[in-house]
Amino acid sequence: MRLAQLRSCLHVFGLLALLTAFSSTMTFAADRPLPNVVVLATGGTIAGAGASSANSATYQAAKVPISKLLEDVPQLGQVANVTGEQVFQVASESFTNDDLMVLARRVSALSKQSDVDGIVITHGTDTVEETAYFLNLTIHTKKPIVLVASMRPGTAMSADGMLNLYDGVVVAASSSARDRGVMVVLNDNIYSGRDVSKMINISPNAFVSPWGSLGMVVEGKPYWFRLLDKRHTTHSEFNIDHIKTLPEVDVVYGYGNVDGTAIDAFVQKGDKAIIYAGTGNGAVPARLVPVLQKAREQGVQVVRSSHVNLGGFVVRNAEQPDDKYNWVAGHDLNPQKAKILASVALTKTTNSRDIQRIFWEY
Ligand code: ASP
Repeated sequence: MRLAQLRSCLHVFGLLALLTAFSSTMTFAADRPLPNVVVLATGGTIAGAGASSANSATYQAAKVPISKLLEDVPQLGQVANVTGEQVFQVASESFTNDDLMVLARRVSALSKQSDVDGIVITHGTDTVEETAYFLNLTIHTKKPIVLVASMRPGTAMSADGMLNLYDGVVVAASSSARDRGVMVVLNDNIYSGRDVSKMINISPNAFVSPWGSLGMVVEGKPYWFRLLDKRHTTHSEFNIDHIKTLPEVDVVYGYGNVDGTAIDAFVQKGDKAIIYAGTGNGAVPARLVPVLQKAREQGVQVVRSSHVNLGGFVVRNAEQPDDKYNWVAGHDLNPQKAKILASVALTKTTNSRDIQRIFWEY
């Protein structure tokens, strides 16, 4: 055999060997069992239905059962073994603390099952940011927990629920999503449940995190860009398995000409903390300072937050002397997230310095 012939022979053998190795990898990938993902349904627009396909804002939320939502996306079967469970069928503005506890306990129980690899929760967009943060603080698992929602009901033209559900299952089924904290997947983006917030109420690009998304899902594959630096899930000192009830916390909105009526009413109701959703840097009008000081003297925690939408960052002892008054600076959390954290923190401590530490760390 001439040298050239020998070379081309070796070439063919090499190629054959390479092809065999490649095809066995492919076979292995195809034969590998799919991950098991449980979808917990709670209602919202993703389960909504309107009278006509032109109705993208006028419709009824929480109508379509989980069995139908899963049936409508048969592509899920290529990503995971998906099972569905209807936990509630409500619009998320009706969520209560009791609902949060019921849902979190179910998520916690499922996350301990060896036959569950990831959990998806379908939810309304209105309070998904609160539920996601609550789970992020209280569920002890590294398994992916992903909340999905939609801005348009499934009956509308260009409905966004099916893709959001598909992307959510993709993330929950992916081992690359482990230990990233509880996530919210919407409009191709993977957000941290800690800081994502609904910023627009009418279009599919409604959600924003002031610190950017963690990653994106593109054609059924998650791509990651950031890690959450704050404590979450297995790194959290809070655990839903040990929380019996959530202390009452309410939000008072700050604006020009506001008076102390709402604060007094919440104190009288027995609230354990008041989130003051101040203007700017959590600013408090001069006439409300003595009202909040009195509330604090009566044992109510006072947390200064900001209702500035994108990045209401509150600095301790700026605007108000928090050290002197024993108040808490809400850090970068918006008022509704500060409400969740204050409530969770109060299950462990009533010391305002410790609550401040918790606001820095979570
Ligand atoms: N009000 C609805 C809800 O939060 C809105 C939505 O899901 O987009 O359930």
